[in-house]
Amino acid sequence: MHTAQRAQYLQALGIDAWVPRTTVLRAEVVPAPVPTDRVEVEVPVPGLDEAVLLRSWQELEAEVRTCTRCALHRTRTQSVFGVGDPRAQWLVIGEAPGAEEDRQGQPFVGRAGQLLDAMLRAIGLARGRNLYIANILKSRPPGNRDPKPEEVASCLPYLQRQIALIRPVLILAVGRIAAQTLLASDLPLGRLRGRVHHFGQLNTPLVVTYHPAYLLRTPADKRKAWEDLKFARSVFRGLVMEK
Ligand code: URA
Repeated sequence: MHTAQRAQYLQALGIDAWVPRTTVLRAEVVPAPVPTDRVEVEVPVPGLDEAVLLRSWQELEAEVRTCTRCALHRTRTQSVFGVGDPRAQWLVIGEAPGAEEDRQGQPFVGRAGQLLDAMLRAIGLARGRNLYIANILKSRPPGNRDPKPEEVASCLPYLQRQIALIRPVLILAVGRIAAQTLLASDLPLGRLRGRVHHFGQLNTPLVVTYHPAYLLRTPADKRKAWEDLKFARSVFRGLVMEK
């Protein structure tokens, strides 16, 4: 990428390219909003997870479209399967669709999505080009509250199957919910950044960064996100060279 173009993207990220950067591995933890509503828990059908793990991409997509495994199907406009190239080497995983994603049926199309696009462009990535974007949940939690454990449990097999089919070189988990869910950890995001983790049976390398919605609320942390992105890019390059 040309220097001028990168400078433009960094500007979009709110980062002054000429200021020396320092890597800070501690970060403030975003307090989780207290859920105020109640959603009925639906008991998952036994054996369904195993069946999901054998689906083809098309079968999976069709199943997610009509999924009723958790109560979120009652309040969503549509499910959001993911977007991009299913053979991509990069997989970005966010939390759950928001209002705009629920309307359009695509992940990260609201304000946070615009920032995510700018972040990805800063390391030479663009939607649909060697990149797939998905979420932990395929349906929008009402009021953008945090996903409930039973919703994550119902939905995760879909993402696991997507990961197994895509076989990405690197997963970039954006935000606390995605990072903690994929790593089965309750460590704060700041403690998960800055190193390579591994996900699932394929041991897919995974790097963590901030959620763009958090960065919109806390622009001071954009510089740390930029460190994460550069780290992810260098990890990716190393992995591709190893292959
Ligand atoms: N936030 C997410 O985590 N995912 C989206 O798709 C949109 C906003």
